[in-house]
Amino acid sequence: MSDDEGAAAVVEFRAVSKTYPGGVTAVRDVSLRVRRGELVAIVGPSGSGKSSMLNLMGSLDRPSAGHVLVDGHDVAQLTDREVSALRATRIGFVFQQFHLAVGVPVLDSVADGLLYAGVPLRRRRARAAAALDRVGLSHRVHHLPHQLSGGERQRVAVARAVVGGPAVLLADEPTGNLDSASGAAVLALLRELHASGTTVVVITHDREIATALPRRIEMRDGRVVADDRTEPAIGAHG
Ligand code: ADP
Ligand code: MG
Repeated sequence: MSDDEGAAAVVEFRAVSKTYPGGVTAVRDVSLRVRRGELVAIVGPSGSGKSSMLNLMGSLDRPSAGHVLVDGHDVAQLTDREVSALRATRIGFVFQQFHLAVGVPVLDSVADGLLYAGVPLRRRRARAAAALDRVGLSHRVHHLPHQLSGGERQRVAVARAVVGGPAVLLADEPTGNLDSASGAAVLALLRELHASGTTVVVITHDREIATALPRRIEMRDGRVVADDRTEPAIGAHG
């Protein structure tokens, strides 16, 4: 239990494997825990199984073998309906491609992140406005996605992912479509969210990004080949 340090696991893999129809095994016998409050990079070359890991962590997919626990729930023991509820209320997703609905104003895109929680429209909009403020976009709430830069769109996607107060934020190559300045801003935002208590898992093939994060899980050919932590530098979370 030396790996435990008291905090609850938000995501736990117990001997998880994933083989796709057709026979590719993308994840091989992976066991790990992500604890509350962590900021973790999953790093590895293209094809090493990172997105497959994220899809399993986010209950978008089910393992072929082993167990995935999210926020304490064994995904295999939930009905499809319960998995949908878990995903909608406890997990925030950010993808490389932003995935903002065309023609939907920013405020409503973010407010839609709360649809499942059954929050009335007025409260959804108020919480969306607060989330947009958190990502530095209060001045863009009435804009449409095509009126925003890539970096701004990704910040909207982050606001949508965190508006419901998820147990974990899962980001798959969140800076992959951004220039380096916008990418750095999105990473800084993820760090800020982490500093204020959000659990964050970031997938990246970019070693430089991973090196700057406090824990790095390295993947090769579907296996975890390293899992390293760096003690935070004094003042790093100031
Ligand atoms: P990464 O995100 O590290 O690039 P992926 O998890 O996307 O890796 O892919 C790992 C392996 O699984 C690759 O060989 C990929 O072609 C394969 N793969 C991923 N998704 C599917 C799928 N839905 N069906 C079949 N094979 C897949
Ligand atoms: Mg990927």
